[in-house]
Amino acid sequence: MEGLIMDYPLTTTTILEYGNSAFKYKRIISHLPSGTRHEYTFGNLYKRCKQLANALTNKLGVTKGDMIGTFAWNHYQHVELYYGVPSLGAICHTINIRLSSQQIEFIINNSEDKVIFVDASLVPLLEKIAHKLETVEHYVIINASELFSTTLINTIHYEDLLEDQPEEFEWPTLNENDACGMCYTSGTTGLPKGVLYTHRSTYLHALTISTPNAANYNSSDIVLLIVPQFHVMAWGYPYLCLITGSDMVLPSSNLQPEAIISILQKEKVTKANGVPTIWMGVYNALKKNPPRPKLKLEEYLVGGSALPASLIKGMEDDFGIKGVQAWGMTETSPLGTVSRLQPHHHSLTEEEKLKIRAKQGIEFPGVQMRVIGNDGSVTERDGKSMGELQVKGAWVIKSYFKTNNRDNFTDDGWFRTGDVSTIDNDGFMHITDRTKDLIKSGGEWISSVALESALMAHPKVKEAAVIAIPDEKWAERPLAVLVLNTKNERVSDEELKNFLSHEFANYQIPDKYVYIDQVPRTSVGKFDKKEIRRLYAQDKL
Ligand code: ADP
Repeated sequence: MEGLIMDYPLTTTTILEYGNSAFKYKRIISHLPSGTRHEYTFGNLYKRCKQLANALTNKLGVTKGDMIGTFAWNHYQHVELYYGVPSLGAICHTINIRLSSQQIEFIINNSEDKVIFVDASLVPLLEKIAHKLETVEHYVIINASELFSTTLINTIHYEDLLEDQPEEFEWPTLNENDACGMCYTSGTTGLPKGVLYTHRSTYLHALTISTPNAANYNSSDIVLLIVPQFHVMAWGYPYLCLITGSDMVLPSSNLQPEAIISILQKEKVTKANGVPTIWMGVYNALKKNPPRPKLKLEEYLVGGSALPASLIKGMEDDFGIKGVQAWGMTETSPLGTVSRLQPHHHSLTEEEKLKIRAKQGIEFPGVQMRVIGNDGSVTERDGKSMGELQVKGAWVIKSYFKTNNRDNFTDDGWFRTGDVSTIDNDGFMHITDRTKDLIKSGGEWISSVALESALMAHPKVKEAAVIAIPDEKWAERPLAVLVLNTKNERVSDEELKNFLSHEFANYQIPDKYVYIDQVPRTSVGKFDKKEIRRLYAQDKL
């Protein structure tokens, strides 16, 4: 028997309507690439989204199902695109500005973008490949100065596009399973693959991650969105802030640690997000120059790669700021799990609590997870049995865009993450590694993530990345690539080995250590293992 409740589609338009109705005066603050500060309200956003919808329809001929690319930093115009484009039934396709020209060209042609909204400062990146873009009819330029000029053709400035457009627009009725957004994976494991989000998945993801056991936001919060809007829909934060009534602070390209600290200070930010490398930079800068008055920041949510226990502890002990770890992938919208202590953990020692917080945590309601061992069966939830993490849920991918490749999907309906994990008997998942990053030495597995976290807890070590290098006797051995806290710092291999021996068996401890100035980063700011392997795994040793 079907229930007797209204069929009310869960769409991003309903989030926009709600934000305007419930939190009209809440603020969106942008620190623009030019260095200027812009502030307006959810009410202003609402009106401008309607102007945008009118302009897209009347001036650019955009209709339902059209793919609209964005190539931009985090700022209010990008938020307008996050709402205005899907509200029409078109798809907001965010393009990662940090990918290579070939990847960007592939992504734009593969997705068939009809219009691209591009920040003036990023236009040179598109000019280089514009002659190879097959489907783009218009480029809309955002934040251009008076001196701006370009070789792109069919351009219009964003403010000119919106000018004179009515602030009234009748939203079309949408199916909640229609596509609303698209993001390609960053291609760390091959060509980027398109992930097409639905209105429903976006709505449910944003609603769920705002809850107390997850990100825990409400209308008293002022949230800094460091995670880029050009990747994985900024973890759904532009939607989450309208749902929770939190003020939204957008840093655009101001992402150096000192710039982030200045924004945290100036805007009295209470919550923020970002990958661990960003927060390592912020922590080191705070230590060099402790802020006066103290920051209002209570919590930062981290995902994308493992949050080292040493960083959680350092930020909390030195500055009273709490690090919360989440796990996810482009394919999971992205957030799938989060690690927060539960009441029964309170009697544990501080060290034990830290170990739990350094795990990736429990799944969100709406997501299920399991770990499949080498024998193909579901492993015990004992915190030790390792295997491939598989997930399913209301915001997990069921198929990549335009490809029938099913390698990442099981026959019984689960998505294969490629992460190697354990789950303990409290249900806390712990990522040991990505399948391709695990080191197999003499037939035994060694976790690069565990070694990195341990090395980063050494007082002289700022950053650590561990990779496998070929070895005649053991097949593979771990190699640690390290950045020390200061250029003049010295540490001996023996000191590091001794330090690691408290936690690791002898065979797991790297024999070789390489010292560099900075660990190469991926397009989304993670340690770039592929590049590190290219530089150090073969002939350099
Ligand atoms: P890609 O780098 O392929 O584009 P994503 O940006 O979607 O992929 O990153 C997903 C991957 O990042 C996960 O499969 C996992 O390996 C890693 N990851 C994400 N969050 C965490 C975390 N909290 N701890 C460890 N690894 C993480």
